[in-house]
Amino acid sequence: MPAHPRQKPVFRFAPSPNGPLHLGHALSAFLNFDLAREHNGRFLLRIEDIDRTRCTPKLEAAIYEDLEWLGLEWEKPVRRQSERFPLYQSALQSLIDQGLAYPAFMTRGEAKAKVAAFEAEGKPWPRDPDGSPHYPCDDRRMSRDEREARQKRAKTFAWRLDMHAAVARLKQPVSWTETGSGSQQEIAADPAAWGDVVLSRSDAPSSYHLSVVVDDAVQEITHVVRGRDLYHATAVHRLLQELLGLPAPIYHHHRLILGADGRKLSKSEGSTGLSVLRHEGRTPADIRRMVGL
Ligand code: GLU
Repeated sequence: MPAHPRQKPVFRFAPSPNGPLHLGHALSAFLNFDLAREHNGRFLLRIEDIDRTRCTPKLEAAIYEDLEWLGLEWEKPVRRQSERFPLYQSALQSLIDQGLAYPAFMTRGEAKAKVAAFEAEGKPWPRDPDGSPHYPCDDRRMSRDEREARQKRAKTFAWRLDMHAAVARLKQPVSWTETGSGSQQEIAADPAAWGDVVLSRSDAPSSYHLSVVVDDAVQEITHVVRGRDLYHATAVHRLLQELLGLPAPIYHHHRLILGADGRKLSKSEGSTGLSVLRHEGRTPADIRRMVGL
């Protein structure tokens, strides 16, 4: 793990309390904790609870219980994203002021139906690296007057990044430093593959991408150690960091723990849940072994 030029290394584990922690989370948490110890760094825990419908205090309490049982210790107070919405709002405002964000009026259902109609006609529609279709609407081209009138009328709308304009604004192509493969590599980022990502919605005033880059900067995270499932999202994070003038941490995307079906574990997979394993009599040392540490 190369040293970050800035300061004492700062690591974070950033779970979302929208389901119980499983072995995949244990691997991530152990890696961050162990690296912090090894490099005489800090280990932070961040609760990523912007989704107020799926995240609950009970699930958050279960996270603390599981991590304490694993023997991890983290700095207090814990940062909770739900308490920081005004901060994300000001980052969004900066993108709006730069002319890089626009209000998007199509609902998720309408967008899905439109893409399905395109695809039914055999017209391919671009999808992001996670498989979700790009936003199928030209709201970004609306005149200022029309946009303002629609904003007044609309009950709800989202803010999206104008990806094309955002990429065009860069002075040079973005990349990130990746150490997940064992050696240090500079990876060329392709944020355009994500299309016009959501920055905020009326039911969630910040998106994952926006809040994660703001928090990593505020918490002075030097090393982001997280699962390989977020590898491609790093392109969006690096782009937002450039646009918002935020520093870039070093990234380390680790292997995923797969379920019996060979797929990434999901929070509904009870048999790999840490509390289920604990109640079955497994020890933290067993969990370390089970995740290959
Ligand atoms: N909150 C995200 C998750 O639970 C992780 C975000 C990150 O590590 O950047 O998948």
